[in-house]
Amino acid sequence: MKILIVEDEAAIAEVVSAYAKREGYETVTASDGLKALEIFEEGDIDLIILDLMLPKLNGEEVCRRVREKSNVPIIMLTARSSESDVVLGLDTGANDYVSKPFSPRVLMARIRAQLRPKETRDNMASGSFAGGRIEIDPERVELRKDGVNIPVTRNEFLIFSTLASKPVRTWSREEIIRAALGDDYDGFDRTIDTYIKTLRKKLSEPGHENGWIKTVYGFGYRFDDEN
Ligand code: CA
Repeated sequence: MKILIVEDEAAIAEVVSAYAKREGYETVTASDGLKALEIFEEGDIDLIILDLMLPKLNGEEVCRRVREKSNVPIIMLTARSSESDVVLGLDTGANDYVSKPFSPRVLMARIRAQLRPKETRDNMASGSFAGGRIEIDPERVELRKDGVNIPVTRNEFLIFSTLASKPVRTWSREEIIRAALGDDYDGFDRTIDTYIKTLRKKLSEPGHENGWIKTVYGFGYRFDDEN
């Protein structure tokens, strides 16, 4: 497993790299946004740790460009942890965020959580839904609409396939977190709303403005499996 560390402060990059190596990961470091994209393009990166404030190209933009092509897990390092920064990070496609200053051990736990094989895969939907229009492919972590790949993050994918696994069931936010993201996910309940909002944006079309995800007011969400 190879981790790309994108960080312009050499001291931080070194600490992160040392910890990651101790966990058995290979690491490669980029000190600016453009270099990060270059290294990513070369391939075989399994996870990206991405600082937000970077020379040449900022972290948000790096995240956005990577997301055009890949569902690779991205953990953002944010200097501030205000709600708007977090929402911004998740909106641009990061899977998780850690605010600075951070504990390297916490960061390692977040990395493990992102790279862990999906033991929950049994609960995940797979195959065709919505009259064959939507396909969920857990092997490739791909969501397709009318045969076209919809670029989603790993967490978005997990949430959508959890909802689709039981189309008649309504899930509370807490249940979605537990089933899709695992017990050690420590985001807020309301983070789910941000994921749902992004999923809807990616899937919605006239007649399906909700992106096949129905809001059940006062309770949570369910998959809206109508043609
Ligand atoms: Ca920085």
